[in-house]
Amino acid sequence: MAKTPSFIVELPLVTNSELRHTLNSRFEAGRQIYNACLGEAIKRRDLMQRSKIYRAALGMPSSTSEERNARSKEFGLARAKFGFSEYALHDYVKRIRKSWLGKHIDSHTGQKIATRAFKAVNKTVIGDAERVYFKRYGELNSLEGKNNASGIRWRDDKVEWTGLKLGALINSKDKVITHGLFHRVKYVRIKRKVIRGKIRYYVQLVCEGIPFQKEKNKVIKGKIGLDLGPSTIAEVSNAGAKLDLFCHELDTIQQEIRLLQRKLDRQRRANNPDNYNPNGTVKKGKKKWINSRRYLKTKSQFANLHRKQAAYRKSLHGKLVNDILRRGTTIYLEKVSYKGWQKIFGKSINYRAPSMFVTELVRKAEAAGGSVIEFPTTSTALSQMCQCGRKSKKTLSIRWHRCKCGVSAQRDLYSAFLARHVKDDGGKYYLDTDSTAAEWPVIKPFLKSAITTTLDKYHYKKPASFGI
Ligand SMILES: [Zn+2]
Repeated sequence: MAKTPSFIVELPLVTNSELRHTLNSRFEAGRQIYNACLGEAIKRRDLMQRSKIYRAALGMPSSTSEERNARSKEFGLARAKFGFSEYALHDYVKRIRKSWLGKHIDSHTGQKIATRAFKAVNKTVIGDAERVYFKRYGELNSLEGKNNASGIRWRDDKVEWTGLKLGALINSKDKVITHGLFHRVKYVRIKRKVIRGKIRYYVQLVCEGIPFQKEKNKVIKGKIGLDLGPSTIAEVSNAGAKLDLFCHELDTIQQEIRLLQRKLDRQRRANNPDNYNPNGTVKKGKKKWINSRRYLKTKSQFANLHRKQAAYRKSLHGKLVNDILRRGTTIYLEKVSYKGWQKIFGKSINYRAPSMFVTELVRKAEAAGGSVIEFPTTSTALSQMCQCGRKSKKTLSIRWHRCKCGVSAQRDLYSAFLARHVKDDGGKYYLDTDSTAAEWPVIKPFLKSAITTTLDKYHYKKPASFGI
């Protein structure tokens, strides 16, 4: 199930000493359940990691995707065998809720606690964390439900939780809050905070949708033409034009990843010289792989770096999408041929994840009431087209559009400009050359100033991909 976007609205809860006492007991019961689940998950993890089946999986190669699939299948079997999974822990929590703890914590809240404990222990397995910590008295400060149907729920501006009704302070003048209260509540979280020595409780409503946009972030409706290249992005809107590198901030970390990949390979070869043919390829047939401590250390560094890269990419994509949507929410672009790029530039361009970027753009544009219109390159071929109707084939290395009619412009910017004038004729897309030619005198200075800005930004290190 795809995750829909969500945002959080936090409200203070109205409590008295009796309600606080009840809540404190429930949070204490929640803490005991958490620690029990944590202990159980650690026990299961240790049994699993000492098992033959898990150690065998550790030694399996993981260079190709088939090898990785086979390996993760083995890991999956080991996890299932020792009940090291979120769902197995849900079963476990069902059992311990049969004790006095069940009176304080409903089954959904209990399951969420088990999930939290499992995730904490699982982090040590996948190398995201060194160790786990049991929670001491008063250290568990949030509890949440699974959905808004049972357990901790939000009903008529109140929190309901097995026999409890808790009012919330709602400031109806606060736009952020009233915006939130109009949205569907996915689930509800209760937070305990100590403020100036006093315990206070808050409710967090995890709402479906996008958060309230402050005035300065409000989007202007307008048409945007985009051109996405393997390493560049060009944009033309009513507000102007932009030419930039696409997520070049990721280049450094990608280089580090490449270096580690080579190191891993070297270490694996050094540890297992008998598994390779004289020409360097891996021998066929069943093999035993020996992993040195150093190799495993590099491997976890490698995995960490990948995770870092993914997180960084996500934030760069998010920023770029928000920036674009500030100038318009109807976006026109050619469907990018990622496979075609790969053929020319190799798989290494994947780390910028342009298709993931487009998915995010679609999601946020639609959430803002706009849309993204993608048309196939085969029907529009914008990089070959001119507003005069002439068509001329250009190889990727030609970065400038020059036509006999006198039009001259940077290729990516010109494609982005043309994208604004693509019309949909019942599913068939074509370039409206009349409107293109009519708008050109207005847009032309935009393209010029976009190039000046880009030159300014990159100065001496101006990338060859711009062709300027
Ligand atoms: Zn022309």
